[in-house]
Amino acid sequence: SVPLSFFAGIGAGSKKGILFKGGASLEAMRQVKAVVMDKTGTITQGNFIVQSVVPAADIDADLLLALGASSELSSNHPIAVSITEAAKEKGLALERPSAVEEIAGKGVKATVEAGEVLCGSRRLMDMFHVSLAEYQGKQFGTEVFVAVNGKFAGYILIADTIKEDAPAAIAAIKKLGIITAMLTGDSESEAQAVAAATGIDDVRAKLLPQDKLAQLEQLRSQYGDVMFVGDGINDAPVLAGANVGAAMGSGADAAIEAADVVFMTSQVQAIPEALEISRSTNRIAW
Ligand code: ADP
Ligand code: MG
Repeated sequence: SVPLSFFAGIGAGSKKGILFKGGASLEAMRQVKAVVMDKTGTITQGNFIVQSVVPAADIDADLLLALGASSELSSNHPIAVSITEAAKEKGLALERPSAVEEIAGKGVKATVEAGEVLCGSRRLMDMFHVSLAEYQGKQFGTEVFVAVNGKFAGYILIADTIKEDAPAAIAAIKKLGIITAMLTGDSESEAQAVAAATGIDDVRAKLLPQDKLAQLEQLRSQYGDVMFVGDGINDAPVLAGANVGAAMGSGADAAIEAADVVFMTSQVQAIPEALEISRSTNRIAW
């Protein structure tokens, strides 16, 4: 039978919007040596805002945005949502693609009247051999590249915001003697900027969804038991592979299913709170 104290811990969690799936998850959390977090939606708000639309020489900005937004219509990735929102705000007419393929951790490929549109990361452009010779270089934010029929058509610069409570929450986790790490599919420069602003110890960038699980294994062999916190978009396998998997925010259904702990709040502070509850539960039990 489950020690009574686990019920106390589970009760304390639920008051703070932290749902432990049974006593085993509290027990596992006590052993955690490193907290590994996804970037988008976990450390950052996951609310990207379009900052600028930069077309290539032979296309205008509105058409570029409309093509990008049309190709993203069926994706629920936070990047896709920001691009379609920006196009709708400008009153641009969007076209539902006749075919769409989402390439996890890279972007989308869509067929519209103008032809084949690619919208996503530099890696997506590399995958389809699109030359970025015309591209001028790095600015602050995340660039979403757009190509039409294999030719670079410009990029959409988007920016996300770090959650306000992230620095204090990271400090609180570290104070418990636990290592903090972040995994992201985003660029090295974005990852380093987030690390500098929040104090996260160990940052690993440019990861595809399948790379994240390998990095988690590596962190486990380096530090010991790992807890992973993510929203489930492109990271459900990592969540399932961690000693403790935690789903944050509204979360994808797959994440809530695979998780040991569910944070009903999107506050980063829920992470140290959950760790503290697991530790005090231990004190009551023994
Ligand atoms: P994170 O690790 O930050 O949660 P993801 O693994 O979801 O990010 O995505 C990694 C990168 O792939 C993004 O930074 C973006 O460049 C690109 N990407 C993924 N999905 C899309 C999409 N639907 N549209 C455009 N770009 C995308
Ligand atoms: Mg993600």
